[in-house]
Amino acid sequence: MSFSDLEDKIKSYIDEENQLLIIQKAYEFALSKHDGQLRKSGEPFISHPLNVAFILVGIFADYETIAAALLHDVLLEEASSIEEIKEQFGENICKLVQGVWKLSKINFSTENEYLIDYYKKIIVGMSEDVRVIIIKLADCLHNMRTLWALPEDRQKVKAKEALDILVPIAHHLGIHKIKSELEDLSLRYLKPDVFYDIAEKLNKTKLEREKTVYDMQIEVSELLKEHHIIHEIKGRAKSIYSIYNKLNKGKKFSDIYDLLALRILVENEQDCYLTLGIIHSKFRPLPNRFKDYIAMPKPNMYQSLHTTVFGTDGYLFEIQIRTYDMDEVAENGIASHWAYKEKENSRAMFQNTTDQKLQFFKSILDLSSDKVNTEELIDEFQNELLNNSIYVFTPKGDVIELPKGATPVDFAYKIHSRVGDTTVGAIVNNNIVPLDYQLKDNDIVKINTNKNSTPSKEWMNFVKTSQAKSQIKSFFVKSEKEIYIEGGKYSLEKELRRRKISFSDFFTDENIKSICEVLKVDGLDNIYAAVGNNRYTAGFVVNIIDKQPEPTPKIVKANVDTDADIIVGGFDKIKVNLANCCNPVCGDEIIGYITKNNGISVHRSTCHNLTLSEDRTLDVEWNINTNKRYLTYVLVYTNTSSNHMFDLMQTISIHNISVDGINIINRADNCVYEIGCYVKNVDQLQKLMVSIAKGDYVDKIEREMR
Ligand code: MN
Repeated sequence: MSFSDLEDKIKSYIDEENQLLIIQKAYEFALSKHDGQLRKSGEPFISHPLNVAFILVGIFADYETIAAALLHDVLLEEASSIEEIKEQFGENICKLVQGVWKLSKINFSTENEYLIDYYKKIIVGMSEDVRVIIIKLADCLHNMRTLWALPEDRQKVKAKEALDILVPIAHHLGIHKIKSELEDLSLRYLKPDVFYDIAEKLNKTKLEREKTVYDMQIEVSELLKEHHIIHEIKGRAKSIYSIYNKLNKGKKFSDIYDLLALRILVENEQDCYLTLGIIHSKFRPLPNRFKDYIAMPKPNMYQSLHTTVFGTDGYLFEIQIRTYDMDEVAENGIASHWAYKEKENSRAMFQNTTDQKLQFFKSILDLSSDKVNTEELIDEFQNELLNNSIYVFTPKGDVIELPKGATPVDFAYKIHSRVGDTTVGAIVNNNIVPLDYQLKDNDIVKINTNKNSTPSKEWMNFVKTSQAKSQIKSFFVKSEKEIYIEGGKYSLEKELRRRKISFSDFFTDENIKSICEVLKVDGLDNIYAAVGNNRYTAGFVVNIIDKQPEPTPKIVKANVDTDADIIVGGFDKIKVNLANCCNPVCGDEIIGYITKNNGISVHRSTCHNLTLSEDRTLDVEWNINTNKRYLTYVLVYTNTSSNHMFDLMQTISIHNISVDGINIINRADNCVYEIGCYVKNVDQLQKLMVSIAKGDYVDKIEREMR
């Protein structure tokens, strides 16, 4: 095929001279850029963009789309740049070329169902203009037509990619022509035995079928003429893939009645229904096979009447009745808007607004049946659309989607939490950049790690993704365990001293074992930690061995007049705040800390933020006469990655505790739930923590200290 063949076809529907000139210029530009290159099939490379353009002309694409199709692979050449294309062909065409180029850099092959949906999402999300996707479909179709030139293993990978990802998109856009050819080609490479078997059977029965269809066609046509309905009847070939699908559902080849199919085209909607009535009066319809897609079009705009009738000689015929306009939409889907007279309208049609994209994306997901993750994916997608994502690449060419303003640290955590935790530097497009560098679309990012390195709290100031934030946070939460151990050991020592028991007498191997059984922990350190994070009081733990009534907590009954939470000895009406690092609740052992200009800040005595300089701390006590509830945070570490939000909410509600919020930190194979809850006192909190800890899915639970 040559450019003049293409031009002849274009001229049948585009007559503006300047548009034709731009197409020609695009061809010449591509020709010079691809000069000397060959495709795997041995043809000169230019044959590929020419064929892609030809496919698009077949669905009456506009001149910008055709020009972009001719140029769609020139960016692969080192000698061409985006600026050059923008300068020569303007903003619109350049954007289309760039869009297709972006998509072509992504390696979409995957076995993972979740990723298949993710990739569909990326294609939709990355394409600001739906014409980019249409060019991509045509590109894929031509590559599939020439797939024979690739080695067999690549053939299968490419065919699966087309079937999993591009076919559903083509179906959604209603571009039946491209969809159906892609399906047949994919089947041919994925299951050659099945494909050729069906093709052969079709071939064997071809003459017989053609004669039967022809007879029926004449009969129906005569009937419609009698009623003065202007019409056209086409015999219709079923695609091999659709037959394969039916065979797959357990039907026998001989039973597939819509092998015999007719399509009747009429001039208006009213004639569609008239035609249906006339046909049903003569040929008995098969029950439950009538569908009115005119009154209720499919989501991809498809309209038609479908019925199945007993035709001549008792053969079953599937008949479609539709207007010429409906037929255009059925074949070309969204692309049929190109044929509309009002060009402005059609332009608006192709500009993807956020709403349209979302709708589009939803219906693509609907196609992939009942995925559990669908809702989440849509939420995520909506977020990303509104936040404006960027797409960057790993050195291997995998695409990573990030919000605008994301940094190499965000990228590192998106790859893996271990990569994030050990990041020491980043290289973007071969240049060393600082870790707070803002990534741009198409950056190629390489992360340097050192296995002995750990995250820095500084990172919290610049990371953009919630994933990176929560991972960095959970890293520090982890190292705070040491603080709990220290604090717990201190409280236990104090309690034992009070009861005049020696530490080494108390913590014998046997006692440790019994305490561990009760607390559901293992090892002495974890006993300390359970006390240090206030899950249990020291008294409770000591009582397991040395049974004594627990002393009443250090709460004083204060003057009923005051409504302050905290009573500070010797000071009247002083400003008191509960520290929001350790969030003490009534009954916690507390210490006041005199701040420079914010009165007294009250911390739990185990809080690591307290620097225990005697002259700035003072004794404070709880006022138990208030009905206040205190906001505090609990961290629940689970041992599975499944969602236990419901179990947690249920447990919490039993304790009549209100929840401020639950934040889930997903890690490789478990989760951390950060629960903000309002409790009356430490007693209530402790009971809650003990009953949450009873769940088998709970690894450990502790109060949060920031
Ligand atoms: Mn291409």
